[in-house]
Parts: sequence; C-alpha cells; structure tokens
Amino acid sequence: PSQTLQVYGAPVPDQQGCILVLHDISRLMKLEQVRRDFVANVSHELKTPITAIKGYIEALQDGALEEQERARRFLEIASAHTNRLELIVEDLLSLARLEAQEGQNLEKQPANLFELLDQTRQACQYLAEEKQIQVLLEGPQDLICPVNSAILEQAFINLLDNALKYSEPGTEVRIKLSQEGEFARVDVIDQGRGIPARDLDRIFERFYRVDKGRSRAAGGTGLGLSIVKHVVSLHNGQVQVESREGVGSTFTVLLPL
Ligand code: ADP
Repeated sequence: PSQTLQVYGAPVPDQQGCILVLHDISRLMKLEQVRRDFVANVSHELKTPITAIKGYIEALQDGALEEQERARRFLEIASAHTNRLELIVEDLLSLARLEAQEGQNLEKQPANLFELLDQTRQACQYLAEEKQIQVLLEGPQDLICPVNSAILEQAFINLLDNALKYSEPGTEVRIKLSQEGEFARVDVIDQGRGIPARDLDRIFERFYRVDKGRSRAAGGTGLGLSIVKHVVSLHNGQVQVESREGVGSTFTVLLPL
C-alpha cells in the first residue's frame, strides 16, 4: 500500500492488447526526500554560525571596535564560529568522498590494528588530558588486518572523540582490541552519560544528535557517526552500539580479517 507506481500504457489502435510498463518509484521518492532533508539540514547547520559571525562583525562596525575589551571578546566568538564552520565543511567533504567510493574497491593494505589504535589515542591525547580522562588500550599487539588506514583512523578518532566529549572528567575510556572468528573486534567503552534507548537507532544518521546544544557546545557537527558508518561499511564490516543512560556506552566495530 505504501508503494507508488507510475503506469505507462496506451491501447495500440490497430493491434490487439496493450503494453503496460510498471515502474516502482517509491524508492526513488524516498531517496529524493532524504536528499532534500539533507540539503535543508546542511543549510541550517551552516546558517547558524554564519548568522553569528555576521552579527558580531556588524557590532564591531557599529562601534564595538572602539572598546578594546568588547572588541576582543566579539572577535573570539566570531573566530569560534568560523572554526565550527570549518569543522562542518571538513566533515561534509569527508562524507562526500566516502560516498563517492561506494561500490568501488577500497584500497587496503595489511595494517597492525594495535598500532593504528595507539595512533588514534595519540591524536585524541589533547582532549583526554584537557578532560582528565585516562584512555586505556588493550589487546593483542600483532593483529594484522587489511584496511585503509587513513580513513579507518578517522573513524576510530570519531568514536574516541565522542567517548571523551560525552564523559565527565575523571572517568575512564577503554579501547579493547580482540579477535572474534573471522573478524577483528574493536570496542570503545566509556563511562559517560550514555544514550537514551529511543535514540539508539538514529544516532548514525547525518546530523542526528540526542542533545543539539550539548553536542554543539562540545564541538560536535552531528556527522561523526555517519562517517564511522560509511568507513566501516566500505571495509565490509559492522558497527554496533550498546548504551545505558548514566552508565556509559560501548561502540563495537567488526572488521573482516
Ligand atoms: P556529534 O558531532 O554531535 O558528536 P555524532 O554523529 O558523532 O555527532 O554523534 C551523534 C550523537 O550521538 C551525538 O550528538 C550524541 O548525542 C550521541 N553520542 C555519540 N557518541 C556518544 C557517546 N560515546 N556517549 C554519549 N552519546 C553519544
């Protein structure tokens, strides 16, 4: 009943019968709706910082420039919004690049996953120290897996970055590497605020955030997990999440060995 059919058919006058061609366009319509929502979301996400930057520049032009302290504060805020714009655009470009690779063979090289995860840990060291969160890495140091290291590291950075962003100072984050049959398994386990059960299905969608204000304040773009989903799917792997509010979250990535 939810399908939409386009029907072409015309009786052919000097012959018997007619030709009926049925196209199921419900999938196309859904894709078109997803595309339209995406464009609307992108525009909205970009508009927010642009409006703020414009406002502060106008305030400076209208006189705030004369008051050194106010001017300095306004420039700092405008600069923070510019950084935010940059992050959004970078994430959008990453997503576009990943989507362009879909259906093509991903370039992979055997890589030591422990080393790759250690690099991820180092890349997030600054935030970990700032939040006084200890990041532990455990597991076999000789597990080799065919991966595209550059894009896989981006996915692990996003997971670790989230674990740190959504946890309180003094808590712990564990990155656990193991082998599960034909798969390498990576668990990123935090003791953070967790994700409500009703949101779990949707957090991998582009721009979906449990709490927009908190995500923005923490420097989130709402695109991190959809990048993770694409990267893992390009590796023919899987990503899952388990979470309990107030207890913590575990994101699990499975990669074929
Ligand atoms: P963001 O840039 O907002 O972090 P993501 O796509 O990375 O976007 O994540 C989507 C949403 O999922 C986040 O806004 C947050 O609400 C939730 N989330 C992701 N990871 C965690 C986590 N480790 N703990 C709690 N909530 C999380």
